[in-house]
Amino acid sequence: MNYVIAVLVGLVLAEVATLITTIYLHRVLSHKAIWLHPAVKMFMRFGTWMLTSISPREWVAVHRKHHNFSDVEGDPHSPHIEGYWQIMIGNVYYYRREANNDNTMEKYASDLPFDRLDRMFLRRGTLGFSLTGLILVLLMGIGPGLVALATLAVVYLVLNAAINGAGHTFGYKSFENDATNLKLLALITFGEGLHNNHHARPASAKLSAFRGEFDPAWPVIRLLEKLRLAKVLTKVDEGWEDHRRRIPKTTVSPTGRVLVKD
Ligand SMILES: [Zn+2]
Ligand SMILES: [Zn+2]
Repeated sequence: MNYVIAVLVGLVLAEVATLITTIYLHRVLSHKAIWLHPAVKMFMRFGTWMLTSISPREWVAVHRKHHNFSDVEGDPHSPHIEGYWQIMIGNVYYYRREANNDNTMEKYASDLPFDRLDRMFLRRGTLGFSLTGLILVLLMGIGPGLVALATLAVVYLVLNAAINGAGHTFGYKSFENDATNLKLLALITFGEGLHNNHHARPASAKLSAFRGEFDPAWPVIRLLEKLRLAKVLTKVDEGWEDHRRRIPKTTVSPTGRVLVKD
């Protein structure tokens, strides 16, 4: 039973890490679509450190470069260039390869220099994640604590790989870009699975565009707004149609002819 609880704890922590990633690292820092109250920002910064050990500066730089070179030469993690399974399995390798590139850091994250907090301890490798492991072991015992930590790591990494791999390979497209929308993935990644929408309008604070799509981070952002802890800085509901694809919908007739609708 202890181990079942440990897996559940790991799953919850992975979802918290994913929520912080999409709101803080992605929508706030990378695309500046949302303003966050400094206290919430600090909370999420520590959350990122403790649950993922990711350096925001590195994540932002790699991600912005991904937008700049989506699925063409220069994309840090394109399944079209590297191969689908390479990204699904080796996403961390491709991420680190780009994050170690000083030119990328300079060019894409000059607005996020390391500050004193980073220099003191937030930058120190996997210190934050190890601290989480220590807390879990103290609370749950060594076996279940390590299982919870491993579940957090594996689930978080798989979800991120799925956004970069499956989110550029499978699913439907509403807009003309190489990313795809996967509604099921969006449900477990707080909207990130609506990746085709995101590549169409990276600055939108909301990732769902049309009826039937749901971005689970959006109600959280709205709640933070109501509490005056966040402010959406970009248009979210208008404008999608202007970007709407001109990809014709095709169906195959009973005689095998491809019919183009739209
Ligand atoms: Zn992408
Ligand atoms: Zn983005």
